[in-house]
Amino acid sequence: MTIKIGIPRATFYYEYFPMAQTFFNELGLQVITSAKTSREILNAGIQKAHADTCVPVKAFYGHVESIKNKVDFLFIPRITCLNGQTVYCPKFLGLPDMMRHAIDDVPEIIDTCIDVRTTRFAVWKAFYSIGRRFTNDKFKILKAYIKSLYALKKYKNLLMQGLFPEEAIKKLNNPNYNIQKKQDSTLHFAVLGYPYTVYDEFTTVDLLSRLKKLGVQITTIEQVPYSWIKRQHKKLPKRMFWTYSDAVVKSAFHFFEHKSVDGIIHITTFACGPDSMVIDYLKFESQNHPDMPFMSITIDEHSGEAGIHTRLEAFVDMVKRKKMLKMNTSEVYS
Ligand code: SF4
Repeated sequence: MTIKIGIPRATFYYEYFPMAQTFFNELGLQVITSAKTSREILNAGIQKAHADTCVPVKAFYGHVESIKNKVDFLFIPRITCLNGQTVYCPKFLGLPDMMRHAIDDVPEIIDTCIDVRTTRFAVWKAFYSIGRRFTNDKFKILKAYIKSLYALKKYKNLLMQGLFPEEAIKKLNNPNYNIQKKQDSTLHFAVLGYPYTVYDEFTTVDLLSRLKKLGVQITTIEQVPYSWIKRQHKKLPKRMFWTYSDAVVKSAFHFFEHKSVDGIIHITTFACGPDSMVIDYLKFESQNHPDMPFMSITIDEHSGEAGIHTRLEAFVDMVKRKKMLKMNTSEVYS
């Protein structure tokens, strides 16, 4: 009988799912993901999680609850550090323990720690130890690992080209999948936030699609090359501790400085610890660049569609008017 392994469609799913899927498929396992976040999934998570937990972690509980009876194992690695410099949020690291203690009848959780600061070839060693649970064939594990790295590279390239994660995953799983053509856009915004928040259609009340419908081209941190981020390191006395926070702050600094977009929208979630610092950094930087429209939107589990969409429409209108005014003024003086 095929072993089934569950990967919740939350947190690291948006960054590493194709790698994990390829690795487990190559070892002969069937990968099962939870459905997209829905009211039922979020409510199930809210019932299990502490009240003061952030929304993405509450959603994570719901995703686990929704697939726990369909799988033999759950894959929830403790991804600690992958670049040798910044670490993932402590809530990420605690996810396996939180699930074990809060969710009844949870299947065995594969919670291998991945921290490149502890040893050389830490990622390979982590995947090797995971693979040994299912096979003694070392070459099979090595082949699966190499294929998974290749899948990750292809996935990151698709994201860099502007595809959103769900679209990129579909393209990887089915090369004949037709990618939607880019619409003509009058505005270009940087929409900055953690991938599991920005791309979660339910918790963000489909903010990205809404912006697209309003004629806005979107750039997220997945399309920001590391070389741009690196150039921004000097603006802070030291790097931020948290991997995603560092990427969000430095990406915002880049767009504030280079003005290559018409506006910046920061998306955060209620009760996010690291974002209490990130928001302050972004607000201070926006005061140094009053000509760059900036808005921060906080999502919570009760976020209403009408409220967020009204704010988006008002922001888009304001930026559009500002851009037209600027164009008219430059025509007058040219
Ligand atoms: S970074 Fe913020 S939103 Fe993400 S898991 Fe940590 S507390 Fe939650």
